[in-house]
Amino acid sequence: MEGKRTSVPARLAYGIIVDTQVIRTAPERFIYSGIGDMVSKITALYDWQFEAAAGYTKVNDFAVMIAKKAVNSFVRTPFQSITEELFLRELLDSLAMSGIANEIAGSSAPTSGSEHLISHALDKLLEQPQLHGIQVGIATYLMALVQEHRYVRVNTIFTDTGFWDYVAALGMKKEDFRRAIDLAPSIKPHRHTYLHEEQYRETAKRLLEEDEILRRVLR
Ligand SMILES: [Zn+2]
Repeated sequence: MEGKRTSVPARLAYGIIVDTQVIRTAPERFIYSGIGDMVSKITALYDWQFEAAAGYTKVNDFAVMIAKKAVNSFVRTPFQSITEELFLRELLDSLAMSGIANEIAGSSAPTSGSEHLISHALDKLLEQPQLHGIQVGIATYLMALVQEHRYVRVNTIFTDTGFWDYVAALGMKKEDFRRAIDLAPSIKPHRHTYLHEEQYRETAKRLLEEDEILRRVLR
């Protein structure tokens, strides 16, 4: 190369090997965690665009397109059971595709927004946090309500997959989510998601009390 600088993609994986037979027999909480994390791209992308509209960052349109395609392909997949081959394949492919969106963007912004901040805050606050994607999924529904964007879709997939019934049995507390909402912006102070604005933190806390579904699944 004679001293010339070259770029080599160092972090992008060459390939992914997934044994869906193994995943089919995994405890369902891991599948629910994957579902919650996948659906979170809906709110993460909306946060990223919100952040850009407020002048804090620029979105990479190609990364947005990839992540959007990934989540839409997943949520539009018809299924009877979450252990079905096609459903699991869609889930895993979409998760991998979202990872590529991050690579393109050079950050986790396409796949991680306010809903992830709530989950990271719960990890800090709770002695025994739940699985990442479980916390993220609940926070995704909450933030979709706050953003007034695609919350019906989020609720449909969580209802149809049994995610909500699984969550309802965990006994998670509204109070913990309240505290996590307040802590959320300090987790990534350089970002500007919906939760970095006080009015939306207040809306989120109000919805915890008022939304019928959240009242059912949280204590
Ligand atoms: Zn995640």
